Amino acid sequence: MSEVSHWSGRMGKRPDVIVVGAGVIGLTLGVCLAEQGWRVQLRTRSAPAATTSAVASAMVGPNFAPRDDPVGIWARVGIEEFTALAGVAGSGVALRRGRLVSRRAGLPLPGRQPCSAAELPAGFAAGFWEKLPLVDMPLYLDYLAQRLAVAGGRMEQAEVDSLTELAEQAPVIANCTGLGARELVPDPSVRPVRGQQVIVDNPGLEEFFISAPFEPAWTAYWPYPDHVILGSSQAEDDERMEPDPALSEDILRRCIEVEPRLRHARVRGHQVGLRPVRPSVRLEAEHIGDARCVHNYGHGGSGVTLSWGCAREAAALL
Ligand SMILES: Cc1cc2nc3c(=O)[nH]c(=O)nc-3n(C[C@H](O)[C@H](O)[C@H](O)COP(=O)(O)OP(=O)(O)OC[C@H]3O[C@@H](n4cnc5c(N)ncnc54)[C@H](O)[C@@H]3O)c2cc1C
Repeated sequence: MSEVSHWSGRMGKRPDVIVVGAGVIGLTLGVCLAEQGWRVQLRTRSAPAATTSAVASAMVGPNFAPRDDPVGIWARVGIEEFTALAGVAGSGVALRRGRLVSRRAGLPLPGRQPCSAAELPAGFAAGFWEKLPLVDMPLYLDYLAQRLAVAGGRMEQAEVDSLTELAEQAPVIANCTGLGARELVPDPSVRPVRGQQVIVDNPGLEEFFISAPFEPAWTAYWPYPDHVILGSSQAEDDERMEPDPALSEDILRRCIEVEPRLRHARVRGHQVGLRPVRPSVRLEAEHIGDARCVHNYGHGGSGVTLSWGCAREAAALL
C-alpha cells in the first residue's frame, strides 16, 4: 500500500502545483512535474490502492489509432515508456507476448504475425501475435508514489469540493479526478462503465489472450508472475461495486474454454472498477480565478496506456 503522507509544513512553502487525483493519471503527471523541479502537492480522496487504476488489468496498447490522432500519439508514447519501464526492477511492468483474436474474419494486419489456424481457439476466426507491456497496477502505483516522493512531491489524502477554492491555494492546479470529474467540474459527459474481473493463481501461463469484439462480456486473461487476471466485461452507467457471482462464473467458464490450465487455478478474488468514459479525453488548460488549471481526465478503458503521453502533454501546456 502506498504511503499517503501529509505535505504542508515540511517545505514551508506554497506548492507550485496541486494535482488532484492519485490514480495513474494524477500520479504520472505529478511525477513528470516534480522531476522537472516543480513543488508538487498531490491531493486525493482515496489512496492509490483504492482507485480505479489499481484494478486495471492492465495491458499497454495495442495502438491502432492513426499516427496524427492525439490518442495514437499518446498511446505510442505510453508503449515506449512502459517498454523502457519493463527493464526497471520494482516497477511492476513486464513485456509479454500474446494473442489478440476476433470472432470475425479480417484481413491480416501489416507488420503483425497472424495466428495460424491451430493457434485460434474454437469460435475465433482471425488473430495475431503481439508483444506488449503488462502492468501489475498495485505494484506500479507504489512505484510511481515512491518516484514522486523521491522527486520531492507530497501526497495528502483529502477531498476537493471546488476547483475555484483550490485555485486560491496554488498558482497552478491539475484536475486528474477520473470519474470524480463528473461532480467536481461538473462534467456530465463522464460516465462509468463497470468492468469485473477474476483473479486466480498463475498455473504457469506466460502469454496473454484477448478477444474482440468487446461486447457486454469478452474473453481475456493477463498473466503476472504469481497470478492471472481474467476478464472482462463492460456495463454502461452501472455503478455497483459488489462483484456479480454469475458474471464471475461466466468469465471463468469462457477463459477455461480457451486455456484449460486455468480449470484448477485457485480463485484469489473478484474485482470491480468503473472506467471513466468520456466521448474524448479532456486534456486542456483554462484559467480558474488567478490560477491556471489543466484538465486531464476521461481516459475510459485506456488510462494506463495513455498516462505518459497525456502527462507529458499536460506538463507542456503548463
Ligand atoms: C476492469 C478494468 C480494466 C482496465 N484495463 C485497462 C487496460 O488493460 N489498459 C489500460 O490502459 N487501461 C485499462 N483500464 C482503464 C484504466 O484503469 C483507467 O482509464 C484509469 O485507471 C483512469 O485513471 P485515473 O487516474 O483517471 O482515474 P482513477 O484511477 O479513478 O483516479 C482518480 C483519482 O481522483 C481522486 N478524486 C476523484 N474525485 C476527487 C475529489 N473530488 N477530491 C479529491 N480526489 C478526487 C480519486 O480519489 C482518485 O485518486 C481498465 C479499467 C478497468 C475498470
